[in-house]
Amino acid sequence: MCYAIPGKLVEIKKNIGIVDYFGEKKNVLLDYGNAKVGDYIYAQGGILVNTISKREALEILETWKELFFELKKTDEKLAEIEASPSSKNLLAVLQEVNLNKTLTKDELLYLFALKGKNNLRLLYETANNIRQKTHGNACCVHGILEFSNVCENNCFYCGIRKERKLKRYRMGVSEIIDAAKYACGELGFKALVLQSGEDNWYTEDKLTTIVSAIRKLGVLVFLSIGQRNKTTYKRLYEAGSRAALLRFETSNKEIFETLRPGTTLASRLELIRYLKELGFILATGFISGLPGETSEDVINNILLTKSLKPDMHSFGPFIPAQDTPLKDHATIRPDEMLKTIAISRLIDKDSNILVTTALETLEKEAKRKALLAGANSLMINVTPKAYKNLYRIYDGRVDKDINKNIKETIAILRSLGRAPADLGL
Ligand code: SAM
Ligand code: SF4
Repeated sequence: MCYAIPGKLVEIKKNIGIVDYFGEKKNVLLDYGNAKVGDYIYAQGGILVNTISKREALEILETWKELFFELKKTDEKLAEIEASPSSKNLLAVLQEVNLNKTLTKDELLYLFALKGKNNLRLLYETANNIRQKTHGNACCVHGILEFSNVCENNCFYCGIRKERKLKRYRMGVSEIIDAAKYACGELGFKALVLQSGEDNWYTEDKLTTIVSAIRKLGVLVFLSIGQRNKTTYKRLYEAGSRAALLRFETSNKEIFETLRPGTTLASRLELIRYLKELGFILATGFISGLPGETSEDVINNILLTKSLKPDMHSFGPFIPAQDTPLKDHATIRPDEMLKTIAISRLIDKDSNILVTTALETLEKEAKRKALLAGANSLMINVTPKAYKNLYRIYDGRVDKDINKNIKETIAILRSLGRAPADLGL
């Protein structure tokens, strides 16, 4: 099984290619690889990552041909709006969304406080409808490899913070490259997120070796390594990494600086903006449900995410971890996360929104529910078995065997009519 459908490059305008997926056209950036009109290519996050032979592409496309159109139909059907609301206010706000008006903070707070089965159903259905109209049934599925649980920071919320007594691991450089070869070669992922604590044992040279080797596999190399130097990120971009995940965590300066001792919101935001400037595909967002957070903070988080113009929104619920200062702090309810997803979709219509594994820990049906509330992107954990249980950023993490997880995810995507075509620019 492949986590991306190849497309045919049908036109090139400067550095932008137009790629055809069974008649659907998506734009991709061509700077990352070489391709000419007529080539079959793989794209991820709107950039060309690899070309493949016509024979191989046609073989893969043959297996998708009928299924692709069936999936589209299913998705269109599920994206119809059927619910009738019990609130006139809600209709009025959704009408403003239809008219592309900017919602006021009070309207956003009203949506976040929304109650009642019918109202919530209408909110989620509207968000899903917008997702379908902007992105069709494309859904990207990235692999995530957690290569080290060593961290020099002490974030209060995090289960791999420096002060926690925990069995630590660091995957060696060649071990990481081998795990990436397995995830991309054997399992078929076309984008790989490399995640770790802030661990300077991985020097710029080591990270550069890792990135260059994985880039040679013809996949998108996605970094999630925390607040490293700007020069390090620049070098890793030059080595072939093209995407970075760095959440600002919370827009509330006081909460940020209390929970992340020794760091500032301003410097985190500066780095996030720099990553975008460098040309990285940017994934950013926040943790929801931190102590002291109000509904207004959640809305500010959603608005700050949008203002950073990310290519992907990444936000998830806080879940406590043992032996951390927040071990007794409660989590938020799954419906508050679903509302956050739907509101993000309403105010940033063409965004890409990730379903995080933390949400899956809170809610068994997270993937399905979130994909039906406006999300369009997933990650599957491909960390080797020996380490997966040690990457304990929070308690009760869903620990599924990789192959089982892939199988279940494919089944969910198929039942919802989603296809792993690229989301385009
Ligand atoms: N060290 C890097 C960083 O902080 O950006 C990357 C790894 S860190 C574990 C990735 C993300 O995990 C953080 O951005 C944070 O939002 C999330 N996280 C940490 N502790 C969490 C918790 N207890 N519940 C939910 N998410 C958590
Ligand atoms: Fe380290 Fe990231 Fe966890 Fe903070 S959130 S302690 S930086 S791994």
